[in-house]
Amino acid sequence: MPKSNTFKLECNCGEVSIQVSGAPAARAYCHCHACQQFYGLPVLAANAWASDALAVTHGNGQLSTYQHPQLRMQRHYCAACGEVLFGSNRLGMAVIRTSLIARAFGGQLPEAYAPTFHLFYAYRLLDIQDALPKYSEGWDGPLHDD
Ligand SMILES: [Zn+2]
Ligand SMILES: [Zn+2]
Repeated sequence: MPKSNTFKLECNCGEVSIQVSGAPAARAYCHCHACQQFYGLPVLAANAWASDALAVTHGNGQLSTYQHPQLRMQRHYCAACGEVLFGSNRLGMAVIRTSLIARAFGGQLPEAYAPTFHLFYAYRLLDIQDALPKYSEGWDGPLHDD
């Protein structure tokens, strides 16, 4: 496992690269409807960082932003290949999918970036069998109980 907590991400076509520094503030699976629809995924597995942890190191001109029409959420994607490199959540944090983090580390997700809990599990499309805490909604609320 790499010891450094800085890594570099490249989009599919290589036009845009970003560098992410420091430990993530949160590592989670999010099952909420907004994430399902905005990212087109059954569940968003992602880490979140303060926005200043992230720097565009190449291709800033190709990095485009899509603003959610109602919610304070954004997708930041490469205009050339369309890949979403990161999102912004309602708290203004940069959200990066664990699949991209794994790619930055040669295809394996380091333990330091593995999700540690589930959010909005009441809205799930998939049942997940793991030992992680599963919050029915946000992490200030009750745990899912089955
Ligand atoms: Zn690209
Ligand atoms: Zn969500």
